[in-house]
Amino acid sequence: MANSIWTIEEFTCAGCGMNYTATREEHSEAHTGSFKCSICSGVVHAWSGKHHFFGWQAVKTRPPVFGRRWADVEW
Ligand SMILES: [Zn+2]
Repeated sequence: MANSIWTIEEFTCAGCGMNYTATREEHSEAHTGSFKCSICSGVVHAWSGKHHFFGWQAVKTRPPVFGRRWADVEW
């Protein structure tokens, strides 16, 4: 627990260009998994190793409903 390291990573769907963010968690044991695009069902990212991704969220570059500023986000 004390060694958990979480980092946010960004992924872009190769099929439709949708952007996603996911939280990467380092593990001491190997995990495998994959995440499929909710738009085109293409595999956005597949992983295998001592880390896991969770908390996948779709990202829109200029989301009108969120009201958040993305000007300081580097794509
Ligand atoms: Zn897609």
